[in-house]
Amino acid sequence: MKSSSTKISRELSRAADILNKDGVVGIPTETVYGLAASIFSKEGISKIFKVKERPSFDPLIVHISNLHQKEDIVREWPALAEILAKNFWPGPLTMVLKKNTKLNSMITSGLDTVGIRMPKHSVALELIDQVGPLAAPSANKFGKTSPTSAEHVKSEFKEEVFVLNGGTCEVGLESTVIAIEDTKILILRPGMISEKMLRDATPHARISYAESSASPGHLKHHYQPKIPLYIFEGEVSAETISSQIQNQNWKELELDTSPAIAARQLYESMRKLSNKKLDALIVLKKPNHSSADWLPIWDRLTRASSKTY
Ligand code: AMP
Ligand code: MG
Repeated sequence: MKSSSTKISRELSRAADILNKDGVVGIPTETVYGLAASIFSKEGISKIFKVKERPSFDPLIVHISNLHQKEDIVREWPALAEILAKNFWPGPLTMVLKKNTKLNSMITSGLDTVGIRMPKHSVALELIDQVGPLAAPSANKFGKTSPTSAEHVKSEFKEEVFVLNGGTCEVGLESTVIAIEDTKILILRPGMISEKMLRDATPHARISYAESSASPGHLKHHYQPKIPLYIFEGEVSAETISSQIQNQNWKELELDTSPAIAARQLYESMRKLSNKKLDALIVLKKPNHSSADWLPIWDRLTRASSKTY
């Protein structure tokens, strides 16, 4: 145990050093791995966009490790934000709030708002304690599958990026993103903090879903594996699938029956299968997949897919 904790603290110091010198680092969180830079480093922030090949219109999420840090980031802290932070932070909930005018506008893609959250991962929290708030999108090339292990990040960026290894991500899907205005909560991106969980924590708030394109960067095509992914609804035979996609060299991406486990395994399975010598992946949408628990998983699968049959 001692040697592994020494290794982590050595890696943490190396990561802190890189971040303090305007660099970027791959960091573990409970959702997916992030590509992080200090919010105070202009150079670091622009490196994130460059390394990721991310368009400048897609804003980054700011990660904090304690509530005092929000002062440099937001200019308003509504009562609802306080309640939600008490209930869900640290955890996979990003709140979009009015930005502090001093915050680098590259982080927010020029918007007047900023996405902020506190990740539930001891290594990330320790690093943020050491170097201050970090801006971090998912650590993958723009539009591609998000990484849920240090190995995924390394294979994506090779030697270009130092990766702090914090094991496999427990949640495995990106955070729920919400916008807060007075007593209204608008869900911009569904995630494992569900509408019901938000409702239970804030019974007086009005909660609704945004149009699917309302969140910048949450595009129609996203999270795409290396080979095409097709969704099939209803009962289908292997023959039907082969004839519909005009190819026999496909494999099924199987989903666990528990949504929490399916979410945790989703990106790992997508990556594993698309590294095999296959031409296509297919995923079967079953009747029970229409329930609220499955919403974030099918949100990602639909965006990752090329077609639904
Ligand atoms: P990623 O961490 O790669 O999932 O990307 C962060 C995502 O958070 C963006 O693509 C947006 O969908 C969302 N986001 C971050 N900041 C804002 C904001 N100010 N307004 C709306 N959505 C945001
Ligand atoms: Mg992303």
